[in-house]
Amino acid sequence: MSKIYVKAPAKINLLLDVIRKREDGFHEVEMIMTMVDLADRLEMEELPRDQIVLSSQVGFIPLDEKNLAFQAAKLIKERYGVKRGVYIHLDKQIPVAAGLAGGSSDAAATLRGLNRLWDLGLSRDELEVLGAELGSDVPFCIRGGTALARGRGEKLESISPPPQCWVILAKPPINVSTADVYGKFRVNDLKEHPSIPAMLDALSRQSFPDMCDSLGNVLEHVTLNRYPEVRQIKDCMIKAGADGVLMSGSGPTVFGLVSKEIKVARVYNALRGFCKEVYVVRMLT
Ligand code: ATP
Repeated sequence: MSKIYVKAPAKINLLLDVIRKREDGFHEVEMIMTMVDLADRLEMEELPRDQIVLSSQVGFIPLDEKNLAFQAAKLIKERYGVKRGVYIHLDKQIPVAAGLAGGSSDAAATLRGLNRLWDLGLSRDELEVLGAELGSDVPFCIRGGTALARGRGEKLESISPPPQCWVILAKPPINVSTADVYGKFRVNDLKEHPSIPAMLDALSRQSFPDMCDSLGNVLEHVTLNRYPEVRQIKDCMIKAGADGVLMSGSGPTVFGLVSKEIKVARVYNALRGFCKEVYVVRMLT
């Protein structure tokens, strides 16, 4: 019986801007997203019966229809009339509800994996369209690399990858709901928007300092004002010498970018004093 392994990397937003609130209640965004080398690992195996079964080593995520990997398996199975079953084991390494798109990346990896396991022959574009039905970050997680995302986040354009550097991720022990953050966000209160052209220019020139200078996330003030521990992490990274620091997505994870290895230990040690979940990874370029 065939078995495959698929990786589901975490994403960070180098830039997140909100353009307007749409009539349908969603926000129109412009984001620059990229993958980091911190990934969930999915093991997928054919089942002799027509059923989707999910397991994970972590006990606090749903393993039924509420799980995005389960939803992805159900969607592709029903859409293409597949009468076969699959067992999926989710080895979770990406912190949950962290602003790192862990669930969306699992959904994307499930679609990619089942396309292979069930020989469906779907193109990347077809998988992206399917992924958009599951969540606005799923198409990007299917495509991977670095992309400019528009609309609700599903309209993608691949762009130059960031220059190689270290990424230190720190997640405080709080859960932040994306819906809550957007609910408290008022686009008309924004005094300035981060510059997409400046970030695109920095990436195309592979300029690490300019990339750090162009980081921006308009949701940051909402989460920082509500959760002092997120602000404390941000301040600590800056003080310890990280070259660029930003909250990812709606938070609460904060990432610090560092170009020189010698600085990594300093930032890591400063954070470890009061934050248990700290990861040191590389950009996936
Ligand atoms: P987003 O920014 O899209 O809200 P996130 O990275 O902040 O994503 P996730 O790790 O995707 O957050 O988890 C958000 C919620 O989704 C969790 O509370 C969890 O119960 C649920 N969830 C559903 N499927 C998964 C999955 N495969 N992995 C982790 N959480 C999942």
